[in-house]
Amino acid sequence: MRLSKFFLPVSKDVPANAEIVSHKLMLRAGMIRQNGAGIYSWLPLGFLVLKKIEQIVREEMNRAGAIEMLMPTLQQADLWRESGRYDAYGEEMLRITDRGGRDMLYGPTNEEVITDIFRAYVKSYKALPLNLYHQQWKFRDEVRPRFGVMRGREFYMKDAYSFDVDEAAARVSYQRMFAAYLNTFDRMGITAIPMQADPGPIGGDLSHEFLILATSGESAVFCDKAVLDVPPPGRDFDFDDEAALAAEMDKRTRYYAATDEKHDEAAYNAIPEASRVEARGIEVGHIFYFGTKYSDPMKAEVQTADGNLAEIHGGSYGIGVSRLVGAIIEASHDENGIIWPDNVAPFHVGIISMKPDDAACAAVADAAYAKLTTAGKDVLYDETSDRAGPKFGRMELIGLPWQITIGPRGVKEGKVELKRRATGEKQDLTLDAAIAKITGA
Ligand code: ATP
Ligand code: MG
Repeated sequence: MRLSKFFLPVSKDVPANAEIVSHKLMLRAGMIRQNGAGIYSWLPLGFLVLKKIEQIVREEMNRAGAIEMLMPTLQQADLWRESGRYDAYGEEMLRITDRGGRDMLYGPTNEEVITDIFRAYVKSYKALPLNLYHQQWKFRDEVRPRFGVMRGREFYMKDAYSFDVDEAAARVSYQRMFAAYLNTFDRMGITAIPMQADPGPIGGDLSHEFLILATSGESAVFCDKAVLDVPPPGRDFDFDDEAALAAEMDKRTRYYAATDEKHDEAAYNAIPEASRVEARGIEVGHIFYFGTKYSDPMKAEVQTADGNLAEIHGGSYGIGVSRLVGAIIEASHDENGIIWPDNVAPFHVGIISMKPDDAACAAVADAAYAKLTTAGKDVLYDETSDRAGPKFGRMELIGLPWQITIGPRGVKEGKVELKRRATGEKQDLTLDAAIAKITGA
């Protein structure tokens, strides 16, 4: 993408209501524009990041055997009356009436819709386990939308729903999502710690929130440092291996990790002092086993192996896809701007052409752009005639993992400057050597 042809409305002015660094940086970098309280347009740069995150989530869900689909944002109130949640949900639900006087709502979550789909088609245990997911906008009329996309009213969520014939099978489905989440967040360049969460009225031990550590986090977290060092299951993990699934969960849950809601001072104090971590955290995912909470009132039953009818056991698994855009910035930035982890960066490389009106310089910069694009890299090519200061400032602000600067002096010596955004390390290299470094060739 040539910067002169892109839409990147960077700005120095940040409204006073932008309190935290990710919100400020997203506004300054021209990633989002506020439409109303907690409602944002995703401008091109922000949209690219949102789509990168969505794609990682998709690939990791699919790898774990979940199947993608799409449910609507607007739902019929009647399904929620069946589950008993229409009145219970409270003021966070945006209720709408259509021209025919029918009660509708903008979905804050999708358990009812998916249970209705399930019961319409699935009649036998033989079709189980089943895990269906989508990535879709949600609306929750939060009392206090704030922190930009981190606590929006309209926000983008991945929500998966598992269906199993009994609790034992549902436990395996839960563990599959647990392992998939670890790989998902790892690919985004962040460490998300699973923490025991409140399982609600169902009870049991099967509810975990995944939090990343950041000073602006809304939850206080307490954990054993050791939990941060357990490696993710990895690409080759076998999601059908039940022993391995249980082991992945056990490797982490053996260490203490809890948010303020579940904090147990005595258990925390039992951790050796040097290993205690007391910090702030951002919830980026939440997984949940809820048994027959929906299948019971909504009559979602299947025939079991011995010919009886059984209510299915369900779980739901959320990831805050749009929240992650802000959360990753909270975890990865410096005083000059964002530092995108490689896999979620809007572009891999930024090329700064220092003198686009100098023919020799422009030729090298054009060649860099062509070669990197051919090598399959997403490139933002700054061939504008802006002054050097603003060019460097803008490139730092938007935080692409690699920067190549091409100026007349270097070009005379056959060199370009390659900079790694995360470390600030700079090297003068031939163009081909710089490209080889970026492409890992
Ligand atoms: P929170 O405690 O932060 O309000 P929640 O527990 O109500 O979140 P869940 O129902 O668990 O949220 O939703 C799944 C995921 O969706 C959360 O882990 C979070 O990452 C994301 N999410 C929830 N509410 C919002 C919001 N208002 N804005 C952006 N993302 C959100
Ligand atoms: Mg939650």
